[in-house]
Amino acid sequence: MPAKFDPSLVYFVGAGPGDPELITLKGYQLLSQADVVIYAGSLINTELLNYCKPEAACHDSASLNLGQIIDLMATGVQNKKLVVRLQTGDLSLYGSIREQGEELTKLGIGFSSIPGVSSFLGAASVMGVEYTVPEVSQSLVITRMSGRTPTPEKESLESFAQHQTSMAIFLSVQEISEVVSRLTSGGYPAKTPVAVVYKATWPDCQIVKGTLETIAEQVTDAGIRKTALILVGEFLGDEYHYSKLYDAGFSHEYRQA
Ligand code: SAH
Repeated sequence: MPAKFDPSLVYFVGAGPGDPELITLKGYQLLSQADVVIYAGSLINTELLNYCKPEAACHDSASLNLGQIIDLMATGVQNKKLVVRLQTGDLSLYGSIREQGEELTKLGIGFSSIPGVSSFLGAASVMGVEYTVPEVSQSLVITRMSGRTPTPEKESLESFAQHQTSMAIFLSVQEISEVVSRLTSGGYPAKTPVAVVYKATWPDCQIVKGTLETIAEQVTDAGIRKTALILVGEFLGDEYHYSKLYDAGFSHEYRQA
């Protein structure tokens, strides 16, 4: 039975990292019932639009500004159409959701958000790795280099590099040399493993593995300039420890040693 959605709301839906089967079931149901879909055409896999009704009006937001996007949403809601805003990965990371929500609120239109599989999760799954390897790293920093959107001074790559923990760097592969020099001057040893994952979970996914010393040249040679994540840290290295959770000699609430 199709889920009931409220056409007085705008639904923000996380599209996932690329593979069209990595959208949530709720996101899929929304797409299949939507009358109006505004999708981020430069990043999402447009095969997702095959889930829509043939008569759905699908708009690529790549060429639209914020005002035009809000107009499309507001017109849809006023005409009692089910409006879906489809964005790559998960909405909560570099999703420009805040400003869209604020503008809708000014018009008295509510919204609901459906999460998605972020690309940093897609990248880890493609590589079969864990960001939090016991005793190697138990924290993950998600960040970006400052670009046209500045990054606050307190959040420099150098400052995060001091921790030598796992890092997933978005929106920065076009400046890989600069990223490497900041990470190195911040404190990561030159031998620290790095992987650049291009289009994780897409059919043309590419993985480049190296170290801080080698990765910039490898990425330039591979011609990767966008839609990639830079993953950094010893979680990609050869050292690992088994977790206590499944250790036969370790008792916990649900199991005795
Ligand atoms: N909200 C998205 C991120 C949007 S910002 C998410 O949760 O993933 C766009 C950046 O995300 C790209 O520049 C790239 O760094 C990263 N990205 C998006 N899809 C990707 C993919 N399939 N593989 C690798 N990186 C990806």
